[in-house]
Amino acid sequence: MIVKKEKVIEDIKALGLELGDTIFVTADLMNVGFFEKNKKYTSEQWIEILKECVGEEGTIILASYTKTFFFLKKNPEIVFDRFSKTYAGDLPNILIKQPLAIRSKHPTFSCIGIGPNAAKILEKHDHNSTAYHPLGEIIKLNGKFLLLGCLDKKNAPQGMHYAQERLGHTKQGPMVGLMQSYFIDDNGEKKLFTKRDLGGCSRGGYKLYGELIVNHAIKFGYVGNGFSAIMDAKESCDVIYNALSKDRKIILCDDKTCIDCYGKWQNTGFGTVPFYFRKIFSILLKK
Ligand SMILES: [Zn+2]
Repeated sequence: MIVKKEKVIEDIKALGLELGDTIFVTADLMNVGFFEKNKKYTSEQWIEILKECVGEEGTIILASYTKTFFFLKKNPEIVFDRFSKTYAGDLPNILIKQPLAIRSKHPTFSCIGIGPNAAKILEKHDHNSTAYHPLGEIIKLNGKFLLLGCLDKKNAPQGMHYAQERLGHTKQGPMVGLMQSYFIDDNGEKKLFTKRDLGGCSRGGYKLYGELIVNHAIKFGYVGNGFSAIMDAKESCDVIYNALSKDRKIILCDDKTCIDCYGKWQNTGFGTVPFYFRKIFSILLKK
């Protein structure tokens, strides 16, 4: 069913987005069912929809994460700058092209935003800061998190990786220190960046919705055809932080071959031994 722009705006407002809000948005727009003319025009209209919902005083922030390479296989073409394309979807890619939008300088976990709070949220997010720093700034500004059509087994509630960061979990795991990217520093020089913190797998994040529901920290609703949700940033992060500090394993995904979830000593202890045996065995069998 094709959904009209007016209906999308009405649904987002009914969900709880208000004028003046600072909002971090994660979206799977295809699920909403709003489409006009072509893909590019539709994405542009999406930015207009979000702007209309939060108004001139509101701020919109999107993840605009970028590609990396394995440290033993350096790719000189992967160089982050203000206009690097993101793999995070059409919406941030449209915003990247807008000259008024502000992008943080983190070489792999950058965010892009517009609105009066965008500079404050993004200005300190660079190669020296932690990956999910902007979410902490959004919390300080009493912001909200919006999941548009992406309540599924791929996307986690936004506070999950930030809670992992606060708990020190993002600095652990087999992939830490292995992935890199080049970036251009403030002096215009090309530098090498190594990812030393990462949230990893998001596919078990759906298991946190129970905690968010019983703590009244999430509101669900439909935006067009897409099942969606809105959360107060601080409230939802606190609920997730408390849940993960009691048991970090509740967000392990359903794929038992996932290295992020099951190859981490801190998650599965001696369970990592058979995990890596199975991994090596399956690689040998493929050869
Ligand atoms: Zn996983």
